[in-house]
Amino acid sequence: MHLKFSDRMILYNVLFFIITFALIIFLVIQGITFQYINGAREQLMTMGQDVNLYVTQEVGNKKEAPRALFEKNAGQYASYLAMLENNRTRLFDLEGNTISDSLSTTDGLNLTKELKKAEEAKAPAMTLTSANSLTTVYYVSPVRVNDETLGYVGFVYYLEEMDAYFEMTYNLFIFGGLLGLFFLIIAVMTYSRHLVAPIRDLTKISKEITAGNYNVNIHYSKEDEIGDLTQVFNQMSGHINSVVKQLKSERERLASVLASIDDGLLAIDAQGNIITYNSYIKTYFNVSHPETIYDFKYQSFLRDIFDRLKKGKEHISEEIDCNGRNLLIIGSPIHNAGFEENYMLLIRNISATKQLENEQRKFISSVSHELRTPLTTIIGYTDMLQRRGVEDKNILNNSLSTINREGHRLLRLVDDLINVHSFDQIAFDIKKTNVDIQALLHDVVEQMRIKAWQKEIEINYKSDESLPEILGDYDRLSQVIINILHNAIKYSEKGGIIEVISTLEGDSVVISIRDYGIGISDTEKDQIFNAFYRVEEDRARSEGEGGAGLGLYIVKEIIEKHNGELSIESQVGEGTNITVTLPLMEKTIGSEVSHDEA
Ligand code: ADP
Repeated sequence: MHLKFSDRMILYNVLFFIITFALIIFLVIQGITFQYINGAREQLMTMGQDVNLYVTQEVGNKKEAPRALFEKNAGQYASYLAMLENNRTRLFDLEGNTISDSLSTTDGLNLTKELKKAEEAKAPAMTLTSANSLTTVYYVSPVRVNDETLGYVGFVYYLEEMDAYFEMTYNLFIFGGLLGLFFLIIAVMTYSRHLVAPIRDLTKISKEITAGNYNVNIHYSKEDEIGDLTQVFNQMSGHINSVVKQLKSERERLASVLASIDDGLLAIDAQGNIITYNSYIKTYFNVSHPETIYDFKYQSFLRDIFDRLKKGKEHISEEIDCNGRNLLIIGSPIHNAGFEENYMLLIRNISATKQLENEQRKFISSVSHELRTPLTTIIGYTDMLQRRGVEDKNILNNSLSTINREGHRLLRLVDDLINVHSFDQIAFDIKKTNVDIQALLHDVVEQMRIKAWQKEIEINYKSDESLPEILGDYDRLSQVIINILHNAIKYSEKGGIIEVISTLEGDSVVISIRDYGIGISDTEKDQIFNAFYRVEEDRARSEGEGGAGLGLYIVKEIIEKHNGELSIESQVGEGTNITVTLPLMEKTIGSEVSHDEA
């Protein structure tokens, strides 16, 4: 049977109480019994002596032999002695036969055994027994007169007092015992509850710790063994709490490190179970919550790399095309002293790098081609002029203007290239001053008009009455307008119109440059501001004005450095409208200050 600690405590205490109580009762009874029996013994001895005295008195100095006289008058003696001693008196002859009994009744009270003992010992014999549920002493003593044994006297002595006393004592014991037991149970229950309370607290708190709540404490103010235990327990839970916190923060740190890696990361144990991975894994392979390497059903290359690492290969690096991406997979073992070897796969998306490589390749071939075309023309013309020495003024002028145009084209190309610091970065030196945007637009339009006339294109410039100055780099902003106008001329039909309008809108100056040329499709609109991007390369080149795809990229970079905005509206066949928004001076100054502070 399973008992609770408190129940067991009650049970043990009750048992202990009962045993102790029984022992006390036993000892008390023993003591009292001894006392009463001793009293009875002394009483009976006195009675025996009384008999001897009385008989000596009766038979002494008589002619008849004392023994014969004793046997003859036994009836008289017995009656007298019974009266004297207030006890039934029996007299026996030397053979043990009853010669007189003060009571004529025949009851079961037999003194044979005691008689025999007294005969043998020639001394009084006594037995303690129970007769008719009364404690009784059977007593037989030799009747002696002048050292002669005449017969025996027997008494049955009831220890009534003792029985009465015991009855009372029993009642007292039962009452006292039950009362004691009652109080004991109450005391033990209270005590055990008090004793068990901290244990119960410990259990409750242990359960909380098991459930994951480590920030718990037991309050117990006394400085005893339980106090020591609770103190140690509190220290232990505090320690667990701090260790768990530390582990949590370590884990979070590791997770954030994993999350901040721009590559997919997969750690695998020797059995192929995934130890950890980061979110990029899902992005790259569309597998959520992978548990083993075999969960990557459609990426057999991962299993292949894992197998090779398991076979002992130290470093694997492979490029793989997966779902339209170029992925670089790097696999290596994780050596961990004392642990089984694990493996790590690093997955890097190199699509952008690949694309950049492609663009660089295209760029180099494009630039070479662009540089070659005007150079070939210039060399061709100069060769011809050298060899032939042209006299016709018209031919000479045409040749020189071709050489000049091609030289400018070359210069523009070289200028664009100078601005391009690396393949995807522009290094600008921006020097901001107060710029009168109307004057700037006027100058640029005048400058570009000459170029437009060559295609019989007209440029109209309109502006709000007066525009406030802005803070900017005059040369760079001129370059922006030139690049946009250059494209507008380049992609307009012969005899077309280009409109340049500048207005004040709120805190900004808005410049729109509109042409009615070939236009740009929606898909290309998003890309034309990227470096090296050119719509239909042949289209641009066939115009004889092709660039390197850098013009609008440079425009975008300059506008961004002026905290401005750039937008484009265009429709194929209908023309293009490019809008540049530049903040007025206060705004530019504000941002400039913060820029400097940074
Ligand atoms: P590029 O120096 O080669 O002209 P840009 O960056 O200036 O390069 O222009 C990128 C592409 O955007 C060009 O190849 C051209 O096809 C397209 N584009 C730019 N401006 C216009 C325009 N006004 N009309 C039509 N297409 C244009």
